[in-house]
Amino acid sequence: MGLEDDARDYHREDPSGKLEISTTKPTNTQRDLSLAYSPGVAAPCRDIAEDSTRGYEYTAKGNLVAVVSNGSAVLGLGDIGAQASKPVMEGKGVLFKRFADIDVFDLELDLADPTDIINSVSAMEPTFGGINLEDIKAPECFEIESQLREEMDIPVFHDDQHGTAIISGAALLNAADIVDKDLSELNIVFSGAGASAISTARFYLSLGAKKENIIMCDSSGVISSDRESLNRYKSEFAADVPAETLAEAMEGADVFVGLSVGGIVSEEMIASMAADPIVFAMANPDPEIGYVEAKNARDDTVVMATGRSDYPNQVNNVLGFPFIFRGALDVRATEINETMKRAAAEALADLARQDVPDAVVKAYGEQPLQFGPEYLIPKPVDPRVLFEVAPAVAQAAIESGCARRDIDTDIYEEQLEA
Ligand code: NAP
Ligand code: MG
Repeated sequence: MGLEDDARDYHREDPSGKLEISTTKPTNTQRDLSLAYSPGVAAPCRDIAEDSTRGYEYTAKGNLVAVVSNGSAVLGLGDIGAQASKPVMEGKGVLFKRFADIDVFDLELDLADPTDIINSVSAMEPTFGGINLEDIKAPECFEIESQLREEMDIPVFHDDQHGTAIISGAALLNAADIVDKDLSELNIVFSGAGASAISTARFYLSLGAKKENIIMCDSSGVISSDRESLNRYKSEFAADVPAETLAEAMEGADVFVGLSVGGIVSEEMIASMAADPIVFAMANPDPEIGYVEAKNARDDTVVMATGRSDYPNQVNNVLGFPFIFRGALDVRATEINETMKRAAAEALADLARQDVPDAVVKAYGEQPLQFGPEYLIPKPVDPRVLFEVAPAVAQAAIESGCARRDIDTDIYEEQLEA
């Protein structure tokens, strides 16, 4: 009842679903139609045939993103299949539109074999300005993304991997600063070795953390190199340490990163961590340890983030993908690379240090939004996120040589604000 039935009604109400196509040019007269379609349409076609980059000039390609899933790892629902994943993918389209005015075709593919998915998606390059892979299970998601990135000349971004990495990365930059520790010296323990944990660990390395300071755990405990049948993604983070269990690994750690399942961390485990621990318990819908429990576990500062909206520091992907794609599309980027991801994380971290506009504070009720342990990252409804993150990503694309279009990012920022 309640939310669930409301959600059914919301989706069922005529017209069913949450998105529709609309036209952007006049279609009133016979002449309008002969411009939109035959015979007029032949002229732009001929131009694009001569120079394919004109696709950006004459078609919706440059503002169109494919949200692609096979429904194999959907939210907390698991492998529910392509058809059942469609409400989620349409919802992703809603967020792209609402936060960054990007249009989405959601594509639910009834495919399990990575090769089939790779072939299908890569064939769609002419249609889209970018590809957002969504809710595809690990470890297949790693191969699918890296293969597509190689084959395609438009951004391919698996949000379940990089969204969490970037946003929690922004939170980590600020958290480390608050507790006055250097990223390169942080001892970091991961719970989870799936899509989000692997790529978050990789991204923390790119922000300055050291691999020798990372311990990763999965459902069988610490991932050590002597364990049998590790996939190559887990092997990447295999450590040679005496700890065998998550509890042992957490003793003396500076940072806990939970991307696993709810309720597996106790107050004692938090109590065993180093001074002023950073605890990002991001399993959804229930974190590895609750906000209140983690705070209660110690007398010093616990810098805490979760995936939940009812506590401070919600790590929510909507803080990333709309703005990252906005910046990438607006310079017609050929990829979303490491430099662009770091730029996004740094822009988010910087924004959290600035004063928050009254309108945003009001939208969040009593919570005082001021830089500190309870406010590490901006709120998604803060309009400044678009103005800060998109230009930072665009600038990083230009500097890293993957932009097809050079723009003045100061003017671009003014245009976004207008
Ligand atoms: P995934 O690919 O299925 O990975 C889940 C990982 O958790 C696996 O490595 C699994 O171990 C491990 N695991 C399961 N039970 C465990 C236990 N008792 N102790 C330690 N590890 C355990 O899933 P994912 O997409 O990475 O997501 C993982 C979690 O993070 C989910 O709860 C998801 O909702 C959450 N998440 C949150 C955000 C956010 O922004 N807040 C973003 C992304 C994901 P095995 O490898 O041994 O099976
Ligand atoms: Mg997802």
